[in-house]
Amino acid sequence: MVAWFDSHAHPELAGIPGEVEAMAAAGVTGVVAIGTSLEMSALAIVAAERFREAGIEAAAAIGLHPHDAGSAGLAGVEALEKLAGIAGVAAVGECGLDYFYEHSAREIQRQVFAAQVGLAREKGLALVIHTRDAWEDTFAILEGEALPERVVMHCFAGGPEEAKRSLDLGCFISFSGMVTFKNSGNIRDAALIVPADRMLVETDSPYLAPVPFRGKPNRIANVAVTGRFLAELRGEEPETLAAATYANARTAFAIT
Ligand SMILES: [Zn+2]
Repeated sequence: MVAWFDSHAHPELAGIPGEVEAMAAAGVTGVVAIGTSLEMSALAIVAAERFREAGIEAAAAIGLHPHDAGSAGLAGVEALEKLAGIAGVAAVGECGLDYFYEHSAREIQRQVFAAQVGLAREKGLALVIHTRDAWEDTFAILEGEALPERVVMHCFAGGPEEAKRSLDLGCFISFSGMVTFKNSGNIRDAALIVPADRMLVETDSPYLAPVPFRGKPNRIANVAVTGRFLAELRGEEPETLAAATYANARTAFAIT
């Protein structure tokens, strides 16, 4: 039986009837529930607990998404700190920069991101990064900060050049259903150069369902669809890629 680990799912799905059964049917036995705000981070902690009760290897990430950076501010990062010590919390994130939507002003995005890099480092947690149309500033912040030991580039949307720079910084690179989209040649080129021991696979559910489910609400079970796509792209057996990405997720999120 192939076992898959979804390195990035939003917590809304934890309570949906049938979700755990669908995961089991697809061989998905690991997941990280990801926060985007204080409220969603608290929900991610509960979701991870529910998944663990259902026999799934699960951890939570607590973070302030760049969309929420403006409303949460640096006080939000201080409040986040209180959640960092709760059992099951493995990472700070998702956090980063989003200049595509720019729902928060760029300066406060940069401040709130840098503060969360520091929080992950101080607490010995992994760091989960969201970056969109903001590679240069993302790299500038990462290169300017002492990094946590384990850093994940989530929903990787760059090309080989950004992949190389991320790998040089020691990051894991996580591919979502976006890699299956027709216009994602650049992301596929990146997926071809990421070493097997640095690659993760994720759903980002309920968003970004992979082809042939594109446009529908995404499910955690679909991590197997994206995983198989990646294996075929790289000329690997699905079992090989599943085992590698599973082991990498356990390493990245220090799941023992
Ligand atoms: Zn994201």
